[in-house]
Amino acid sequence: MGLLDNKKIIIMGVANKSSLAFGCMQAIIEQGGQVILTYQNERMKRSLDRFVDDAVLKVECDVSNPENIKTAFATINQTVGKVDGIVHAIAYADKRDLANEVTDSTLDSFALAQNISVYSLIATAKYGREIINENGSIVTLTYMGSERAIPNYNVMGIAKAGLESAVRYLARDLASQAIRVNAISAGAVKTLAVTGVKNHGDLIKMSNERAVDGVGVTIEEVGNTAAFLLSPIASGVVGDTIYVDKGTHLI
Ligand code: NAD
Repeated sequence: MGLLDNKKIIIMGVANKSSLAFGCMQAIIEQGGQVILTYQNERMKRSLDRFVDDAVLKVECDVSNPENIKTAFATINQTVGKVDGIVHAIAYADKRDLANEVTDSTLDSFALAQNISVYSLIATAKYGREIINENGSIVTLTYMGSERAIPNYNVMGIAKAGLESAVRYLARDLASQAIRVNAISAGAVKTLAVTGVKNHGDLIKMSNERAVDGVGVTIEEVGNTAAFLLSPIASGVVGDTIYVDKGTHLI
């Protein structure tokens, strides 16, 4: 018996086999869940087609426009019916903002990071709550740059602080439908998104060195925690941010 037997979970943000969302996808399938993927654009779709089974439903969803989320979820609802959870593993900031100093960012680039990395979760909850069954669960991904001034993380750190706050407010509001909302604060892992951060090699090295055993967290470990949070046995975990970083945040 799996934790997610008979559960349908939408996963937003699988780009390739290094993605944290891919770790979530594997863990959800291992726990008996059925996955539905959303992808940003045709380039991402071509990437997914290389390693994701044709039987998995894949739906386009560029979250920069909330209407696209509404349309994508309506398509999913029409195709598979109601779902039991959503993994939101999406963030974006202009590469120029992931270097140097926060004061180098512009209003437009700041707003872009907020839109893709924070508002997209709110829109996901807004349209997601229409198609999620009672006792469902939404999980997003954050990073400790929300609390600490991590070199070059800049506007993304500010966005992650907003994201974690959004998790708390959404958890309060969606409780009326018995839908839980939580975040996983993952340790640094080399993914496409991380390579946008200047000197990301140093970021990952620092994160790994501060893990209690000196070994960085894996996407499998992050995925397993997502599977737990999506499952009924996490019914008491609401509006929380859980560190899955091998203790990096402690040191
Ligand atoms: P990734 O590059 O594999 O995934 C990022 C995803 O965001 C991609 O699939 C991309 O297509 C999607 N995306 C960006 N803009 C989008 C848009 N407009 N519409 C739809 N999708 C869009 O990188 P990742 O590191 O796995 O990132 C997933 C999440 O995990 C992000 O929120 C990231 O901040 C967070 N996170 C990553 C780390 C890390 O070290 N990798 C640590 C903590 C948290």
